Amino acid sequence: MQEDRNLSFDFVKVTDAKYTPLNYVLPQPQTRALDFFFHSDKIMPFNNFFPFSRKKTPMAKKTIASVDVNNKTVFIRVDFNVPLDDNGKITDDRRIVMALPTIKSVLERGGKVILASHLGRPKGTPDPKYTMHPTAVRLAELLDQPVIFATDTVGQDAQAKVAALKTGEVLVLENLRYQPDEESKKDEEKAAFAAKLAAFADVYVNDAFGTCHRTDASMYAVPLAMGSKPKVCGFLVEKEIKYLSDALANPQRPFVAIIGGKKVSDKINVIENLLNITDMVLIGGAMAYTFSLAKGEKVGGSLTEPDKVNLAKELLAKGGDKLILPLDTHCGDEFSGTCNKITVKAGEIPDGFQGFDIGPETAKKYVGIVKEAKTVVWNGPMGVSEIPPFDAGTKAVAQAIAESNSISIIGGGDSAEAIQRLGFADKVSHVSTGGGASLEMLEGKKFAAVEVLDNE
Ligand code: AMP
Repeated sequence: MQEDRNLSFDFVKVTDAKYTPLNYVLPQPQTRALDFFFHSDKIMPFNNFFPFSRKKTPMAKKTIASVDVNNKTVFIRVDFNVPLDDNGKITDDRRIVMALPTIKSVLERGGKVILASHLGRPKGTPDPKYTMHPTAVRLAELLDQPVIFATDTVGQDAQAKVAALKTGEVLVLENLRYQPDEESKKDEEKAAFAAKLAAFADVYVNDAFGTCHRTDASMYAVPLAMGSKPKVCGFLVEKEIKYLSDALANPQRPFVAIIGGKKVSDKINVIENLLNITDMVLIGGAMAYTFSLAKGEKVGGSLTEPDKVNLAKELLAKGGDKLILPLDTHCGDEFSGTCNKITVKAGEIPDGFQGFDIGPETAKKYVGIVKEAKTVVWNGPMGVSEIPPFDAGTKAVAQAIAESNSISIIGGGDSAEAIQRLGFADKVSHVSTGGGASLEMLEGKKFAAVEVLDNE
């Protein structure tokens, strides 16, 4: 059934061609640099408009801008792992929109484009629920041109369509994870699959930031299999690295990190790394209560990680004055917006109540610190920001970041979603498209999938 549907969509028809993402506010005038990034017809000269001075690092990677793609077949590993509703409709197309500059740059310079991505977790077998087909349809709308769709990755259909691909055309392959080799534990299986994908193209581009922390076949084995052929970054990966890695290596100060979210255990390495490079780390979210436990304070029924108390103690000792904890806590007697609420001093949460947000004193203090900052990195909400009024702390911090003149970098995942929902996404310097990848980059980790690409 699914096969039939896909085959009948050899060319995706363009019905309503708009260069407008479904669920995303494009950058407004105050972020002209990003506006230019999205709308320019030219190749973006990143170094000309980045707002921070950047010493060239020895590992700076080549980008697609420096490769002659005229009449060449360019394999672009994108991250089109977009959310879909129950009817298979894309609910947020940001990841497709963010890949457009790279795709358009290749097309405008006379290249042929093959796009490959995973979507969801089909676990190595074809599953219609995870077909890439809706992303090809959306891409055709965004590009305002037909997009060819292959119903497999390296099988007959893909091979025939790659062979027939002409200059200026775009081919989207079916889900890479339909093939068990993509995530195989055996290197030789990944390599065999990668060799077939690499044989399709003259140039390899990694523009899949959300997957950069992984070594799936398409991320690592394909660039390896390209041998001496060019293997470079796309513009999205370049931009993410510039903000999440290079900017932090040479920050304007004061440099403030704000870390929230559920668990201290998820962000232990991020906090450790940020304590080394920032001037202050402000803590919010449920993780603050594990720090309270470590100080022997009262947390009532709040979400904590009792088995991580020793880790929290180590961070407190290491952080000293740099690690800033909440002054007060907004509590409720059940997990709902209509529960009974009290605000208490941090560490004095009575039994029968849970902490759901930083209190107003903390919000005021954090806002003041953010106002003075020149560089801000934010990852994780200050409370249960999806349930008002417990979004107040997150909102106050988000607004302060939006109104400040700092270089502001928002990690992917929940913080990206929160800044979007609160309407401030267009007022910050960078919102990362990668959850896990942005966290790992903030931990200071290097990614094998990026390291393997050509140096400048
Ligand atoms: P994370 O995935 O670690 O960034 O955490 C994000 C999640 O933490 C969101 O779903 C928030 O609702 C949740 N969260 C933040 N603060 C609290 C809190 N005080 N109590 C319960 N959940 C919280």
